[in-house]
Amino acid sequence: MTEKTFYIETFGCQMNAHDSEKVVGTLVHSGYAQVESPEAAGLVLYNTCSIRDKAEQKVFHRLDQFKRAAGKGKIFAVIGCVAQQEGERIFEKAPHVSLVAGSASYTKLPEMLVQLEAGNRRVTGLSLDSGEAFDTPFTRRDNPHRAYITIIEGCDKSCAYCVVPFTRGPERSRTSESVMREAAELAGAGYTEVQLLGQNVNSYRDPSPAGWDFATLLDRVGSIPGLRRVRFTTSHPRDFVKEIVEVIDENPVLCNHVHLPVQSGSSSVLERMQRLYTRGEYMRRIEWMKKARRNISITSDIIVGFPGETEADFQATLGLIEEVEYDSLFAFKYSQRPNTSALDMEDKILEEEKTRRIQILLEKQRAIQIRRNSDLIGTVEEVHVEGRNDALGQWIGRTSQNRTLNFTHREAGGEPLTGKYLPVRVTRAGPNSLVGESTMSVV
Ligand code: SAM
Ligand code: SF4
Repeated sequence: MTEKTFYIETFGCQMNAHDSEKVVGTLVHSGYAQVESPEAAGLVLYNTCSIRDKAEQKVFHRLDQFKRAAGKGKIFAVIGCVAQQEGERIFEKAPHVSLVAGSASYTKLPEMLVQLEAGNRRVTGLSLDSGEAFDTPFTRRDNPHRAYITIIEGCDKSCAYCVVPFTRGPERSRTSESVMREAAELAGAGYTEVQLLGQNVNSYRDPSPAGWDFATLLDRVGSIPGLRRVRFTTSHPRDFVKEIVEVIDENPVLCNHVHLPVQSGSSSVLERMQRLYTRGEYMRRIEWMKKARRNISITSDIIVGFPGETEADFQATLGLIEEVEYDSLFAFKYSQRPNTSALDMEDKILEEEKTRRIQILLEKQRAIQIRRNSDLIGTVEEVHVEGRNDALGQWIGRTSQNRTLNFTHREAGGEPLTGKYLPVRVTRAGPNSLVGESTMSVV
């Protein structure tokens, strides 16, 4: 390769976003320079998502589109979940691709780069049994104030609809020592907020003799000097234990927000989804949080139209969201995924019916959010400032509960507030964000 420049585009979840930060760090360490457009790059990488079928189609469309526009002489790499899922078939579907690698093989990225540079036109990294987490000292972080830290990779659950165990491999926890070192280094470098990441953070188990569980790790990270906020995602209800609520109650650095995906409010659907909990068991976990001393914000994921979901099952989901009163919800129409056990299930729900159900669900949830956000009018919330919307003359902040709170600050003048923490009085509320004003000094 003559020009060592690369461009990377990322689809999908926070795990993918963070993987891309690590890939960027590794490439820069290997002598590559990052550029802002595929046109300017010698190496073009797409970090892909395959959680739902549209995400996958988007990648092939993007690859094709770009090849036609300006692909001559460039090296294309498909990495992430579609790479793992489709493997060498990608070379057939898109012959201009030279590298196909799943996330469990990123530890071998430097070797793969050497092969590419030697002119090898078909390089693959598709093994799932890396046995280790992708732990690189070269991570390039996109946000100067908030950083992701992977604590566990892969997933050992087998939810009937989900492709993740096939694309990200089995669970591998990082040692607590390595997580603590990374968190302390981040705090030393001026980061004040970190987010612990994993498909199921609750099943974290320190592989070193210290043997920390997730609640212990969370509490210890939340005790590192310099850190003001610690978040985590995602929690699986089956492994969500009461100790997690107890450490949140005791340690104010731990954000009072828990994303606890329920998927369905019907125990029979949950059983067929192989989620390993009933509605009652899920609600017990909600009770722990509602009884906590701190006001814990709860958010969730729901799938509508899972095979065999009856109108009564759907009504049970609507009843559950009314009972829990989530602060935010990601709702998805069930989509068939390769290799998953739900593929063979009967009673597929028609697309129009899934659309009808998701619309009803989102409408109900919107009303809940308007109600809950309106309850906050008049209260004072501490925000971490994330940026500024010049068009609206507002700063963009985020509360510990993970709400967006856009605000004006009469005395800030030209002072840059991004990265600072300050109290803001809530004056208005919409379904997805709050508006407020602050005259208080910056903390
Ligand atoms: N590990 C997390 C968990 O167990 O909740 C999240 C996994 S996934 C990246 C995020 C969400 O995508 C899931 O919670 C689920 O609601 C949704 N999802 C996963 N597979 C899906 C499918 N086949 N069809 C529709 N939604 C799906
Ligand atoms: Fe997928 Fe279930 Fe694992 Fe979450 S817990 S990643 S939904 S298999």
